[in-house]
Amino acid sequence: MNVRRLIPTAAVAGAVALGLTTLSACSSSDAAEGGSDGKLDVVASFYPMQFLAEEIGGSHVSVTTLTKPGTEPHDLELSPRQTGGLSDADYILFLKGVQPAVDDAVEQAGVKNTVDAAKLTTLENHGSEVGHDHGHEEEGEEHGHEGEHGHEGEEEAGLDPHIWLDPVKYAEVAEGVGKSLEKADPDHAADYRKNTDALVTELNALDKAYETGLKNTSTKTFITTHSAFGYLAERYGLTQEGIAGIDPEAEPSPARIDEIHSVAEESKATTVFFETLASDKTAKTLAKDLGLKTGVLDPLEGITDKSAGADYIEVMKSNLIALQKALGAK
Ligand SMILES: [Zn+2]
Repeated sequence: MNVRRLIPTAAVAGAVALGLTTLSACSSSDAAEGGSDGKLDVVASFYPMQFLAEEIGGSHVSVTTLTKPGTEPHDLELSPRQTGGLSDADYILFLKGVQPAVDDAVEQAGVKNTVDAAKLTTLENHGSEVGHDHGHEEEGEEHGHEGEHGHEGEEEAGLDPHIWLDPVKYAEVAEGVGKSLEKADPDHAADYRKNTDALVTELNALDKAYETGLKNTSTKTFITTHSAFGYLAERYGLTQEGIAGIDPEAEPSPARIDEIHSVAEESKATTVFFETLASDKTAKTLAKDLGLKTGVLDPLEGITDKSAGADYIEVMKSNLIALQKALGAK
């Protein structure tokens, strides 16, 4: 599954043939090139963080994203160059609990303006029985004494990190990001403030559209491959039945599949949702067995030209349409 995030085979073969010991020549788009343009060099961990940094930072920031478009972020591995380059960033925006490799690298980078989006809103435990840990072997013991991230216990407590799929929580994070950018780059504080307000207004409108659009539906239950929509479900009174857990690559147990079968019948669910970045095999098999439709509900963990929209707002709007259809909105 990791093939897509690697550079093309021919380039690797070429580098090997030339006896190069690193691949740095090939990775011009990697993090932290250094800002000679006077812009704040921002490193974002994955798309939902990138979108906030770009929208709020506007023309004053130059944003690089650790997770390349089209790659599934949860199991991201960083190149040595990305890890090393992190410490050159002026500002890092990440979301602790989504990508263990990023969490570790960010902690080691020790950049002063490091913002953990998870701390800008409140996280909850959405109690799915499956796939809750990200396969993260506890390896963080030796860097737990820096004191800056004083919530070691929380991280493994099964908190759901998918806050960006709830426009209200995402707006809270946007506010926090705006404030932290004002602090990091006071010269442009007024612009950050203005951009934050504009984004929050858009997110509020999105929230209203969801609230109205999902008020009257024939069922409240939707089935998804990976349990990314817990906050969204809670916000709009829906029930998410995730086939796999928080990690989209986790294999569901046969017992969970059986459970989904009965849930689907009882709840009159019509659709099994899959997503653009992870395998759709389980969803398609399940839908076929249950005689249900399939649809795309995009967890927005990355964005590509295959996404149902050009940015966060657009994809969230198509998610709303997909949900309305599947739930039988009136
Ligand atoms: Zn996820």
